[in-house]
Amino acid sequence: MKDGYGRKINYLRISITDRCNLRCRYCMPEDIDTVPMGQILSYEEIEEVSRCAAGLGISKIRITGGEPLIRRDVCDLIRMLKAIPGIDTVALTTNGVLLEQMVPDLAKAGVDGINVSLDTLDRKRYELITGKDELGSVLKGIGAAERIGIPLKINAVSLDPGRYFGSSSQGGDARLPGDFSDLIGLAQYRPVDVRFIELMPIGYGKDCPGIGHDRLIGMVRDAYPGLEKEEVQGGGPAVYYRIPGYRGRVGFISAIHGRFCDSCNRIRLTSMGFLKSCLCYDTGVDIKDLLRSDMAHEQKEEALLEGIRQCILQKPAAHVFSGEGEITEKKAMSAIGG
Ligand code: SAM
Ligand code: SF4
Repeated sequence: MKDGYGRKINYLRISITDRCNLRCRYCMPEDIDTVPMGQILSYEEIEEVSRCAAGLGISKIRITGGEPLIRRDVCDLIRMLKAIPGIDTVALTTNGVLLEQMVPDLAKAGVDGINVSLDTLDRKRYELITGKDELGSVLKGIGAAERIGIPLKINAVSLDPGRYFGSSSQGGDARLPGDFSDLIGLAQYRPVDVRFIELMPIGYGKDCPGIGHDRLIGMVRDAYPGLEKEEVQGGGPAVYYRIPGYRGRVGFISAIHGRFCDSCNRIRLTSMGFLKSCLCYDTGVDIKDLLRSDMAHEQKEEALLEGIRQCILQKPAAHVFSGEGEITEKKAMSAIGG
């Protein structure tokens, strides 16, 4: 269905856990309080909401977290969601640590695509960012997914290496730190899009130094003079560029310096069952309350449909990350799902 600004909402991001096996500094830097499992939506509840959402025009679902691969039987959920009439894509966003061992089951379950979050190819920096020495496992996971043929994208948060690590990394172009050129290098021989995400001042992201995409895009352009903007973009928030001779593309998701709210097509369900209308704001609908009420089946379904409709109609025209007072969302990104 369309929201109050005429945007077609067809994409639902579902966070299935607020727990994680990494401790990324901008997301969940320490052991923060997590919610008891009883307050997290069950797979059956997620399926029920998704079925109603599909009835209102949602056709694409992304499973996220926390780290979705640490929740037991995630492949069962993928199968359940793929069986819903109207849902044609079920994708996953993961940190990739457990990916290698799960790739065969994910492929069997029919996952349509996997986004792996990876901010650097430098082992020490990876550990500094995530708190864990797991770069090797992530790279093995990427290799396994590639070999089995699952479509892959790499997502990297644009951290400012100078301010983050106290120095620029070795080996990069003088104007483009190595973290960025190493990651872009992943697109050279593989049909994999490497996308940079502008750090958002949500949760712990407020205290982390990001590099603005106004600067980063200029630096990438200088380092790859043949860089060409794609004439036809994908319709999502990423703006894609091609580097001559590279199989994959470079994308920029510029939440601060870009303006993609006009084409925003998504709503988000947190692991606790709150349906959010925009990342930046705490507005939305408590779907768990409806799911767990003692209404009769048909009445509950009608209430869920109405709740989802309300959330879509509440979507604001745009997010505003520039004014501190504007951001009403206080949850950590691990609880929202990114
Ligand atoms: N654990 C999974 C992962 O890391 O891919 C899924 C959940 S994570 C919250 C989803 C995405 O949000 C990741 O790509 C992560 O880098 C991104 N993210 C987390 N905090 C962010 C922030 N403050 N600004 C921009 N992106 C952020
Ligand atoms: Fe975990 Fe993903 Fe957050 Fe990193 S970004 S702490 S991997 S949920």
